[in-house]
Amino acid sequence: MHMKQKTLITGYPRIGENRELKKALEAYWAGTISIDELKKAAAELRKTHWLFQKEAGIDFISVNDFSYYDAMLDTCVMLGAIPKRFRSLQNAEERYFAMARGNAASPAMSMTKWFNTNYHYLVPELDEDLVFKADSSKIRSEYREAKKLGIEGKINIIGPLTFLGLSKTSGDTDPYDYFDAALSAYTEILRHIAAEEDGVLVQFDEPVFARDPSQKQLDLLKKAYTALSAAGKNLRIIVTTYFEHSNEAAAALAGVPVWGIGLDFVHGAKNIEGLSALNGKRLVAGVVDGRNIWVNDAEKTLALLEKIAGSVPAEHIIVSTSCSLLHVPYSLEKESGPITPWLAFAKEKVRELVCIAKAFGDPRAPENIEWLEANKALAASRKASTLICDEKTSARAASFAAHAARPGTFAGRNAVQKKALALPKLPTTTIGSFPQTGELRALRRDAKSGKITGEQYEAEIKRYIDNCIAFQEEAGLDVLVHGEPERNDMVEYFGEMLKGFYFTKGAWVQSYGSRCVKPPIIYGDVSRPSPMTVKWIAYAQSKTKKVMKGMLTGPVTILNWSFVRDDIPRSSAARQIAISLHDEVKDLQDAGIRIIQVDEAAFKEGYPLRRENIAAYEEWAVDAFRLTVSGAREETQIHTHMCYSDFSDSIHTIEKMDADVITIETARSGNRLLKVFKERGYANEIGPGVYDIHSPRIPGTKEFIEQIASRLDVLSQDKMWVNPDCGLKTRKWEEVKPALKNMVEAAKSFRH
Ligand code: GLN
Ligand code: ZN
Repeated sequence: MHMKQKTLITGYPRIGENRELKKALEAYWAGTISIDELKKAAAELRKTHWLFQKEAGIDFISVNDFSYYDAMLDTCVMLGAIPKRFRSLQNAEERYFAMARGNAASPAMSMTKWFNTNYHYLVPELDEDLVFKADSSKIRSEYREAKKLGIEGKINIIGPLTFLGLSKTSGDTDPYDYFDAALSAYTEILRHIAAEEDGVLVQFDEPVFARDPSQKQLDLLKKAYTALSAAGKNLRIIVTTYFEHSNEAAAALAGVPVWGIGLDFVHGAKNIEGLSALNGKRLVAGVVDGRNIWVNDAEKTLALLEKIAGSVPAEHIIVSTSCSLLHVPYSLEKESGPITPWLAFAKEKVRELVCIAKAFGDPRAPENIEWLEANKALAASRKASTLICDEKTSARAASFAAHAARPGTFAGRNAVQKKALALPKLPTTTIGSFPQTGELRALRRDAKSGKITGEQYEAEIKRYIDNCIAFQEEAGLDVLVHGEPERNDMVEYFGEMLKGFYFTKGAWVQSYGSRCVKPPIIYGDVSRPSPMTVKWIAYAQSKTKKVMKGMLTGPVTILNWSFVRDDIPRSSAARQIAISLHDEVKDLQDAGIRIIQVDEAAFKEGYPLRRENIAAYEEWAVDAFRLTVSGAREETQIHTHMCYSDFSDSIHTIEKMDADVITIETARSGNRLLKVFKERGYANEIGPGVYDIHSPRIPGTKEFIEQIASRLDVLSQDKMWVNPDCGLKTRKWEEVKPALKNMVEAAKSFRH
C-alpha cells in the first residue's frame, strides 16, 4: 500500500552556497554595507534554503535555524541571558556582535566546539545578577517570513537542558541552578509561539543527552518538557538529540506528553534498543548522515527503517537527517572528479532523504525500485574502484611497531634541548600563521589558475616570509615561524599533497561566525609522494640566526577535520596519515630544523561523547601522534598546539603524547582550566595563550604583564612559554604588530 512517509531536516546550513552570509557579515563589520543590507542578504538566504527544501519535498522545514553568528548566541538573546559586561549596550545589533566578537571595552564571549564537531558556539555566561527575559521576536519574525513564502515552519530552538548544560557560571554555582528561571523564560517563548498558530511544531535540540547524562539532568528533562508541553494549546514538541545514542533521555521522556523524539541512528546505533520508550510518540529517525558526505547506502538504511518499524508504527516514523546539515557543504553542483558520484552534500542529502522515505513508504513503486537499483550500483562501483586501495601503503603501515614512539624521557630530552636551543626565560613564540592578506589569497589563486608562473609565486611567498622574519626579529620574538603564507588552510595544504585526499572546489562548512572551512575528503589509502613543507621551512631558517620552528598539522587533526572514509576504521586512516607525517618530521630534521610543531588543534573534538568509547579513541589517537614524532632525535624539540584549554578530563592523554612543549588557548579563560596541569604534576613545558586572537583588540603591555603574571600563579617559570592563543591568520597586520611587540615587551619584563 502506498504511504507518504513524512520527512524532516534537523537543520539546514545558513552561510550560503557561495558563502553569501560570510561576505555580507564581513562587509557589514567593515562598514561597507548597512545593517539593512545585511538583513536583506540574510532574508534572501533563508528564502533560498526554505524553497529548495520545499521543492525537494521535505515536510518539516526548519525556521530559526538561521543565525547571524551562532544559535547558542541567539538563544542567549532569546532568554535575555546577556553577559554582564554587555548589558549596558542598548543597540541590539551592536550588542549582538560585541558579544560574538568583543569590542573596545570588553572581550568577546568565549567559544568552544559544539560536541565532537568542528562547529564553534559561544559559551553563555550566567551570573547571580542575571534576570532572564523572554524575547521571541527573532523566532516569530522568521516564522512569519517563512509563512509568507508558503512554508509551514518547524521552529528550531536549543533546549533548556543543553543551553544550561553548555553555559558557564560565575563562582561555584551549577548552571542548572538557573533551571527554574530559564524554564520560565522558555515557557513564555512557547506561549508566544503557540499564539502564532494552532499546532505549531517546535524542535528542541537537546544534544547534551548524547553524552552520559546525570540523574539530575534526566529529572530536569522530564520537568522541563512537562512544563513546556503545557505552555500552549496544541503545541507539537519534538525533543531531538544527535551525535550519539540517548536511550536514557528517550526513557525519561516516555511519560512526558511531547509529540515526538528525534534520535540519531547513524552515530547512535544503540538508539534502536530504546524505542519502546516512545510510548506512542512520533519518532524522528535520523538515518541520513549529517556529518559525512558519502551517498547513503539506501539498502542498509531501508533495512534499518524496517527494523525500527518493528517497534514503532510506520506512520509514526518521520525520516530525517541524523543532525543538522550545518556540518556538510551545500551541493555538488560545482564539483567534478572521479569520486564525486559517490558523494552527497546538503542538497543531495535532502533529495536522497526524500527518495529513501518514498522507497520506504512504497517499496514496490517502479520509480523507487529504479532509484534503489541505481543507488546499489553506485555503492558497488565505489567498493570495486582502484582509487581506494594502495597495497604499498598497507605494507608500509605493517612495517611500523604497533605503538611506535620517541626513545628516551622528557627529562632527558629537556636537558639536551635547553643546552642546544639556549632560549631565554619565558621564551616567546607564535603559533605559526601570520595575517593572511587579500594579496596573499589572490597570489595563491593566481598560482593555482596558472595566471602567474611557479617562479613568480615562489618569489612572492619568499618575500612574505622575509617580511615575516624581519618583523619577528624586530619585535624580539625568540622562536620564529615562517608565517604559513603558502597555506590556504592547515589541513587542506597537507591533504593537497597527500595521496588519497580529494579536494572540493567550493565545499565550505561553517566553523564559527563568518569563518568557514573546506574539509578535504579522504577517500583512499593515504601516502606522501614527496616532502610537503621542507622547502619553505628550510628557506625561512636560512634567513635567520634565530630558531625557526617547522610547522605541521598532526594526524588526528587532519583526520578530524576531513570527511573520512566510511569503509575502514578511523584508526587505520590516522595511522596512514601519521606515517606520511613521520617522513616529513625526519626530512625537516635532516634539513636542520630544531623545533617542529605538530598541531593537534582538533585532537579533542574527536573525543567520543560517550565514556564507553573514550579509551579506544585515546589509544589510537595518541599512537598516531607518537608515531608521527617517533623519528625525532632527542635534541629536536617537538611542540604541539591545541586550540582550547579544557584538559580536565584528557590531561592523562596530553601526558602520553609527551610533546616537549604544548601551546594552548587561555587568554579568555585564564587560569581556571590551566590548574589541572599543576594538579596533575604535568612535567613538560607549556605555552598558555596570553593574546586572544579571535578578537581584533590589541592588548597593551600592562594587560600582557597581568596575563603572564596570572599564568605564573599556576605554572613554573622555567616551564612556561609566552605566546598567543592560536595562529594569527585571521588578524590584520595592524593588530598583530603592536600586539606581539607588547607581548614580547611584557615577557621581557619578567626576565631580570
Ligand atoms: N599553526 C596553525 C596556525 O597558526 C595552527 C592553527 C590552529 O591550531 N588552528 O595557523
Ligand atoms: Zn589553535
